[in-house]
Amino acid sequence: MAEIIDGKAIAQLVRQKLAEQVEVLKTKSIVPGLTVIIVGDDPASQIYVRNKERAAQKVGIAHQTIRLAADVTEASLLTIIKKLNQDDQVDAILVQSPLPNHLNEQLVQETISPEKDVDGFNPINIGKLYANRHEYYPVANTPKGVMTLLMAHHVPLRGKLAVVVGRSILVGKPMLSLLEAANASVALLHRYTPDDLRRSLLKQADIVIVGTGIPGLVVGDDLKSGATVIDVGINRLSDGQLVGDVDFASAQAVAGAITPVPGGVGPMTIATLLQTTVELAAQHHQIELADKWQII
Ligand code: NAD
Repeated sequence: MAEIIDGKAIAQLVRQKLAEQVEVLKTKSIVPGLTVIIVGDDPASQIYVRNKERAAQKVGIAHQTIRLAADVTEASLLTIIKKLNQDDQVDAILVQSPLPNHLNEQLVQETISPEKDVDGFNPINIGKLYANRHEYYPVANTPKGVMTLLMAHHVPLRGKLAVVVGRSILVGKPMLSLLEAANASVALLHRYTPDDLRRSLLKQADIVIVGTGIPGLVVGDDLKSGATVIDVGINRLSDGQLVGDVDFASAQAVAGAITPVPGGVGPMTIATLLQTTVELAAQHHQIELADKWQII
């Protein structure tokens, strides 16, 4: 029976560590500042933003939310972002997605200064990650949080085979780069990967990371005995149940360690967003960080 990788407990450790770091920064008169922009009144986005607000306040981050009407013009939104880029009190800027269709999400991401790009979506930061550059730069928080989970569980990566299922810019692609930087061999699977290839790669994988939005896509029979399984998926079934992309019961019987849904990757994403905010604040004030992304 697989060990459960408890994302809630590890996220709690991250937040404790962050609260300590924020205290240290405050002795130098530095208060990390996170600004979230939300456009329109999508109920799910409102909940995400409120959760971020609450979590930021708890660790001592100065948080502001800018709420804009659904029909805000692209020019106004870009002007607001450019002002925040110039504002010394703001270390991190996040524009909550999805945006209404008339707004060009790519242009918005490119307008956020790479130094304040807390989501790691600016192409400059994506390029730095791909190139595995040595300096600090922000990286997408969900895959960065997955790396923290793997490190907290001392999962060996060097020389291991990691299979990532799903290739979004939010999850799969940055995950591939992070694992490769940790010296794993990485295979990236997606909807056009032939079934036999998918089966053969999964069966050999030491680490399996799934982020597709398809409930039950990976089952126990797909896995090698003892594999570490990280389920990024969050899916609401018609009966209201929240499940991941991995069939938990069958996978748990085969895997060595596995994240549950809920309580696995989900809690790490917000904790890691706060971590990135504190790291950006430290960067802006030229304060050395212990390690590029390792917090615990
Ligand atoms: P997305 O729709 O942008 O990407 C899905 C990816 O899955 C695509 O690359 C697609 O090619 C791939 N895919 C689709 N069908 C497939 C198949 N049959 N086999 C293999 N790959 C297939 O979604 P996303 O934003 O990357 O999110 C993926 C999942 O992760 C969703 O359930 C989302 O809710 C969840 N998510 C969770 C967190 C978190 O904090 N836990 C954060 C982000 C996303």
